[in-house]
Amino acid sequence: VTSSSLEGTTAVITGGNRGIGLGMGIALARAGADVCIWGRDEERSAAAVGQLLEIGVDSLAVRCDVTDEDSVDEAMAATLARFEGIDAFFANAGISHQRKFVEMTLDDWRLVMTTNLEGTFLSLRAAVRHMVARGEGGSLVATGSFAGIHGAPGFQHYTASKLGIVGMMRCLAVELARHRIRCNTLIPGIIDTDIQEDNRGNEKFVAVTTGRTPVRRWGAPEDFGAAAVYLASKEPLFHTGDELLIDGGYTKF
Ligand code: NDP
Repeated sequence: VTSSSLEGTTAVITGGNRGIGLGMGIALARAGADVCIWGRDEERSAAAVGQLLEIGVDSLAVRCDVTDEDSVDEAMAATLARFEGIDAFFANAGISHQRKFVEMTLDDWRLVMTTNLEGTFLSLRAAVRHMVARGEGGSLVATGSFAGIHGAPGFQHYTASKLGIVGMMRCLAVELARHRIRCNTLIPGIIDTDIQEDNRGNEKFVAVTTGRTPVRRWGAPEDFGAAAVYLASKEPLFHTGDELLIDGGYTKF
């Protein structure tokens, strides 16, 4: 994969205005891809687009709430009004939430499932409709979680949503291979983003989790750049239906 291997291609990233999504967006732009980011916070999205434009590619922020079917379909229309077609689509938007299972409310459950699982479904459906109609293949990448490998207290809803994404992607890989659309899931370990805000200041948690990570640190958004470029490029034609673990070895220790 050369540094300009994505020139002439367009990538869309949901949740691309910060964290892992922006880390991937910056790497994709450096590899030459135009990058469109979807998210709710317009100020953050504008700042992210500023960073991407500075790299020298085209970039657009589209306001989108992935939990809202109309919002997703409108975001797709706005994206295609600006870019000729989408070559790689990253369904990355997600929220985290922890609550003891006995105290977990149906609203807690629904908020996490609606954002992470239903939002990924709606986003991927819009992307697949476009890619199939366009007939030029493509790459779909979803973001799962290491919480789907290990059990985690108070994360029953989050983990169910992330394992649901893995199952959805495996089915898509089988259904879409004939359209030359590859479908893979990134599985992050603990990554230093806003989602970890509460844990960042918890010295004990930081010491325990870095201590059991063979690479001896939390991940950073930049750690997802190389995988994003690889998955967005056209070379790995035979790589589909997979889960790529990026966790510094955390789940192996
Ligand atoms: P951030 O909180 O930094 O980013 C989350 C992104 O999702 C933001 O860009 C946010 O944008 C977007 N988002 C959230 N809800 C919605 C919504 N309803 N509609 C549209 N966009 C939405 O966290 P990360 O970068 O860490 O998270 C990215 C993905 O990685 C998530 O799916 C997360 O579950 C997963 N992950 C993260 C881990 C970690 O340790 N950081 C570990 C394992 C998985 P906005 O608020 O503007 O809408």
